[in-house]
Amino acid sequence: MDAKMMNHYRYLLEQHKERHEDIVDDMETLTLGENDNHGSSELSAYDNHPAEVASELFDREHQMGLKQLEKREIREIELALEKIRNGTYGTCEKCGKDIDPGRLELIPWAKLCIDCAREEDAFMDEIKEDSKKFRPSEERVIKSADLNDSLKGEQFNDLMRYGSSDSHQDRGGEIVSE
Ligand SMILES: [Zn+2]
Repeated sequence: MDAKMMNHYRYLLEQHKERHEDIVDDMETLTLGENDNHGSSELSAYDNHPAEVASELFDREHQMGLKQLEKREIREIELALEKIRNGTYGTCEKCGKDIDPGRLELIPWAKLCIDCAREEDAFMDEIKEDSKKFRPSEERVIKSADLNDSLKGEQFNDLMRYGSSDSHQDRGGEIVSE
């Protein structure tokens, strides 16, 4: 990759990094603003509106998750900038091939070429599929349902055994009528 392209991707990465940092800044300002509103008067609301407080807690947790995500993106971008500095930028970490420029244009922090990324995605899908196969709680429900059915079946067989025409009374009756 020539210096001109490197500069281009460095520019893209810095733009992305700035945008993510702005988002994190906004989130932090927002959280601070929220804290200002949550004075001691809000404590009395805790008993009166537990659902409201719960949703607020959820929002905050959700926001924390988003912030973590943003910070991870920034870290990815920093790693890519690091690669530009040491001259390893633009090659796939898995197979070592050049990453397609169109891909870098969209995702300048891409670590993998499109083929390896797709493989990775397929692998992740497989893991997800596997985890779908092992649903212990649901399986337990199904098993206990099966167990109930088999128990009912046994009870039914018991009834059949006692009420069947193989009993002496029935056979005797048949003999008498002949
Ligand atoms: Zn690759």
